[in-house]
Amino acid sequence: MRGGGGGGASMAAALLARRGGAAARARASACWRQLHSVYQSAELPETHRMLCQTCRDFAQKELAPIAAQLDKEHRFPAEQVKKMGALGLLAMDVPEEYKGAELDYLAYSIAVEEISRGCASTGVIMSVNNSLYLGPILKFGSEEQKHQWISPFTSGDKIGCFALSEPGNGSDAGAASTMARLEGSEWVLNGTKAWITNAWDASAVVVFATTDKSQKHKGISAFLVPMPTPGLSLGKKEDKLGIRASSTANLIFEDCRIPQANLLGQQGMGFKIAMQTLDSGRIGIASQALGIAQGALDCAVDYAEKRMSFGSPISKLQAIQFKLADMALALESARLLTWRAAMLKDNGKPYTKEAAMAKLAASEAATAISHQAIQILGGMGYVTEMPAERHYRDARITEIYEGTSEIQRLVIAGQLLKAYRG
Ligand SMILES: Cc1cc2nc3c(=O)[nH]c(=O)nc-3n(C[C@H](O)[C@H](O)[C@H](O)COP(=O)(O)OP(=O)(O)OC[C@H]3O[C@@H](n4cnc5c(N)ncnc54)[C@H](O)[C@@H]3O)c2cc1C
Repeated sequence: MRGGGGGGASMAAALLARRGGAAARARASACWRQLHSVYQSAELPETHRMLCQTCRDFAQKELAPIAAQLDKEHRFPAEQVKKMGALGLLAMDVPEEYKGAELDYLAYSIAVEEISRGCASTGVIMSVNNSLYLGPILKFGSEEQKHQWISPFTSGDKIGCFALSEPGNGSDAGAASTMARLEGSEWVLNGTKAWITNAWDASAVVVFATTDKSQKHKGISAFLVPMPTPGLSLGKKEDKLGIRASSTANLIFEDCRIPQANLLGQQGMGFKIAMQTLDSGRIGIASQALGIAQGALDCAVDYAEKRMSFGSPISKLQAIQFKLADMALALESARLLTWRAAMLKDNGKPYTKEAAMAKLAASEAATAISHQAIQILGGMGYVTEMPAERHYRDARITEIYEGTSEIQRLVIAGQLLKAYRG
């Protein structure tokens, strides 16, 4: 835990107390308790196991029962997000002086997984606020900016978003064409940002724009923009395959004026801020993928035990057992990679390669596991009465955002070769 464990431990204890501690645990269904044993082992510190149980109880009680409806209606879970704010889940590694929970990234990973296991849309809403919005402000913001742009975004009353991608460039983030020019004491922003998660529900955005085109990616800067604000409009809500309860839309800047003081970090530091932010963000998305994969595996095991075929449960068939074994193997391997990346970050060690490995492994595991879960459910896997089809739809995005699987492979190979060449 950050700061020697004091803040984190007390926060986790407080989380448990607020959720009803042992009583809440007792209410958890037998299925949820039995299927997910890895955290019961001695691998995690007590505080993290308590936090895990708190988040699992919350997801099971507050999110899983409504996830299908939220998905169907494309509805932002406002009430649940506020409750998550009260639990400290929206600003997990933010110090208490800025109203955060002051936990570490391992705790954050565990929390995002458990929340995503109940509802993957809520998982990404949480991940974007923690990693992509608050993360860069915490790391690169001035003291004044931290108080202004972090503290009001910890309770769930307000959430933030992160705008790097554009209609003309996603993977090639250094080719940003959104421009920012200084006029007197104001920055004037022009351009369009694409695919922005939380766009319709956010009260602020960390946005990347070019202040000096001749410098290419070294001419990009980061800015803090309140939402709504004159000159900034929202595009239509994208009609997505999955994570449909989280809003995704373009942000259109047309002579949008913000104070000079809203520059985040130094002028020209934007690309570095974006890349470092994505390193942390990938741990969040890896964790979201783990939650989706675990949800799909839970569903498959439960169904296999109950579904009778040729006079016995299908779980007795070796063909089904082999699938379950491969699913569990992929999931638990990806979880270990994710926890390793989180722990490296917590210990101040480089983790770019490890975060890319975690995201690549977890997202591909989520896609494969949710695919096989549908196979195990047969026809029931294909209809909305069961969550398997939603897991399958939700999993797919984890291979695309915050760097596609191809980009993760490039990052891993680049780091590997750099180390080899010294
Ligand atoms: C639902 C959703 C939410 C999102 N949320 C956000 C957000 O909050 N903020 C934000 O800034 N962005 C967000 N994005 C954007 C996302 O990060 C990009 O879609 C992603 O980075 C890929 O960019 P692209 O879509 O432009 O694809 P492209 O970059 O055009 O890539 C197309 C294909 O080419 C491959 N490719 C491209 N370059 C290379 C290369 N050099 N080597 C090998 N293969 C390559 C890609 O892997 C991919 O398969 C979101 C996207 C979606 C769909």
